[in-house]
Parts: sequence; C-alpha cells; structure tokens
Amino acid sequence: MEMLQTDIAVVGAGPIGLELAVALKRHGFDYLHFDARQIGYTVSWFAPFTRFFSSNERIAIAGVPLHTPDQSKASREEYLNYLRGVVELFDLQINTYEPVTGIKREGDGFLLTTNPAAGPRVCRARRVVLVTGGTDHPRRLNIPGEDLPHVSHYFQDPHPYFRKQLLVVGGKNSAVEAALRCHHAGAHVSLSYRGSELSAKSIKYWLLPEINGLIESGRIPAYFNTVPTRITPTEITLNPSTQTIPVDFVLLLIGYAQDNKLLRLAGVDLGGENEAPVFDERTMETNIPGLYVAGTAVGGTQDKYRIFIENCHVHVDRILAALTGEKPPAAPEPIARPES
Ligand SMILES: Cc1cc2nc3c(=O)[nH]c(=O)nc-3n(C[C@H](O)[C@H](O)[C@H](O)COP(=O)(O)OP(=O)(O)OC[C@H]3O[C@@H](n4cnc5c(N)ncnc54)[C@H](O)[C@@H]3O)c2cc1C
Repeated sequence: MEMLQTDIAVVGAGPIGLELAVALKRHGFDYLHFDARQIGYTVSWFAPFTRFFSSNERIAIAGVPLHTPDQSKASREEYLNYLRGVVELFDLQINTYEPVTGIKREGDGFLLTTNPAAGPRVCRARRVVLVTGGTDHPRRLNIPGEDLPHVSHYFQDPHPYFRKQLLVVGGKNSAVEAALRCHHAGAHVSLSYRGSELSAKSIKYWLLPEINGLIESGRIPAYFNTVPTRITPTEITLNPSTQTIPVDFVLLLIGYAQDNKLLRLAGVDLGGENEAPVFDERTMETNIPGLYVAGTAVGGTQDKYRIFIENCHVHVDRILAALTGEKPPAAPEPIARPES
C-alpha cells in the first residue's frame, strides 16, 4: 500500500479547509490535504442559484475579495467559481475524491487511511486538522416510504415538479426556499411543518413575507403542527389528524447531521446534544494532542445553525498561532446579524 508522509494532514476542502491550506502554504508548512469529494462539496449540493444569506465579505477567504456582478450576495455558482479561483491562485494541491476512512495514533503522530478510487493509501502525519463540516447526512424521519423514488432529502431543481403535487416537509430556510421556488416554477406545492408557524429567526428575511403571503392566500396550503408518518407512491399521511394528502413528490428538508465517525475513531471527546467535539478555544486542539478541529465541524450536528463560514475564519488564525507558537488571536466580536 502506498505510504504518504507529512507534518500536517488537513481533512476537508470546504471554505475553511481551503482557507487553512492557504495559511499553511503561506507559512511554509509541510502538509497534505484530502477531501472525500470535490472542493466545496457542501456548497455544491445547494440547489442551483441558491444565494448565501451571509454578506460576501464575510464568506470571502484568505483575504481574496469576493465580488458578484450586481453586488448581491453570492450564489452557489458564484461561490464555487470563487473557491476554484482561490485554489488556482494559491496553486493548492488537494487530493480530491480521497476520503479519509481511518485514523489512529501512532508514536507521536497519527496514521490515516484514505480510500481513493485507485486503492487505499496510508498517510503518516504528526498533526491532523479535521475540517470536515457538519452536514454529511440528511436527517431522516424513519417512516415507511421514506426511500421511495419520488421522495428526496435534497432539493436540486424545481423543474421535475412542474404541474405536479409536491409536499415539502420542513419549516426552515431550505424548506421555505424550495417551496417558493417550486411554486414559482409551476408546481402545486404544500408544506408540512411540525411547528405552529414559520420563525423569522430561521428564514432568510427576504423570503418570509412572501411565503407567509402565499400561505395566507391559500396558494401554498400549509399544514402546521403536523408530522408525516407514512408515504406511499401516491399519498402521504400526516399526524396527528392522520389526514392523507395526494402527492406526486415529497421533499424532506428537515436538516442535516454530522458524520462524526472520524472524530470518534480518533478518540475525540464529544459533548452536548449536538455531540460537538470538545476543544481548546485558544488553539482548536481537541483532547487528543496534535488533533485539531476547525470550521463548522466544531458545531457537531447543529439543530439551530450558529456556526457558519463567517465565524470560523478565526479557527484558522488560532491553529496557525498554535502551530507557530505565537499568541492566540483575540476572540472576534460576536456577529450581530449574519446577513449584514
Ligand atoms: C442551502 C445552504 C445555504 C447556506 N448558506 C450559508 C451562508 O449564507 N453562510 C454561511 O456561512 N454558511 C451557509 N451555509 C452553510 C455552509 O455550507 C457551511 O457553513 C460551509 O460549507 C462550512 O464550511 P466548512 O469548510 O466548515 O465545511 P464544509 O464546507 O462542509 O466542508 C467539509 C468538507 O469535508 C469533506 N469531508 C468530510 N468528511 C471527510 C472525510 N472523511 N475525508 C475527507 N473529506 C471529508 C467534505 O467532502 C467537505 O468538502 C449554507 C448551507 C446550505 C445547505
């Protein structure tokens, strides 16, 4: 088996993993970088043309300005384009489509196992940074019919739902955005949400008045305080009333969960209901010496999203300070409103 050797292994090439890679390269560190998929994978599965709610300056990385043609918040396409540009600008070498599947302590470092298409490799690293994100798997309802072909946990394109009965399940940003886009694309959309109303805190401020207006006018029927219990090829049953609704398609947009297998394998302590890794706020080092976490991975499975790209930039500075032995940077001012 091929054996790789490095000082620092970086796992994950989302925005924060890339920002860390630029910092390591600028400081002349010997590092190897892996991603299970393509760079920016988490952003790539947003629906086409989805816009970030964060301002461009807050999701820009490595000091490279992010501009959009009309100064609006970046879309999925514009941000992926930007990330590719950052990789080219700094000529970052990333082993993409190479998942890290194993990690164990060896001597004063770590032994990682990776699994690219060409066959497994082993990487010996003195230190490891896990920048693996927190949205690996969709949350499931675990109800009969959830895996039928007309049911999806990802919203990818409104077109398949044109003139079809679509039930969107969920009441936060992803669900509301999908419901609106599919409605405008000519689908007959209805919404099921376990809450009693849509919360302004969980939905982009420019979407809320529109969805509320469409619900109030009955153009998007909303079933509040309901939970799906069974899906058949033609119907969905909602509790507590056990009413059945005819459907052609169902979108289950109820959030995403972290895959914390690597953290567990490495022996990192996980805490709280989010099962978030425990780490030193000044250095980002976990209870395992030499093993650091950064980016949204630090939040575990976030029910209410509080950790975004914009409040993770400081993780890079902290790790860099820890690696170079410099004083850790001061904690940044809390962000009043992410969208400002
Ligand atoms: C619709 C939508 C809108 C959003 N809008 C915003 C917004 O406006 N502002 C904002 O800040 N955030 C937003 N987010 C969240 C945003 O996507 C994340 O904040 C961001 O991607 C986190 O960056 P990251 O680098 O921490 O992790 P990620 O981007 O999740 O990157 C993690 C990377 O690790 C890789 N990986 C995971 N496990 C392994 C493994 N075992 N081996 C190798 N590689 C691995 C993954 O393939 C992935 O590329 C949004 C998310 C969605 C779904």
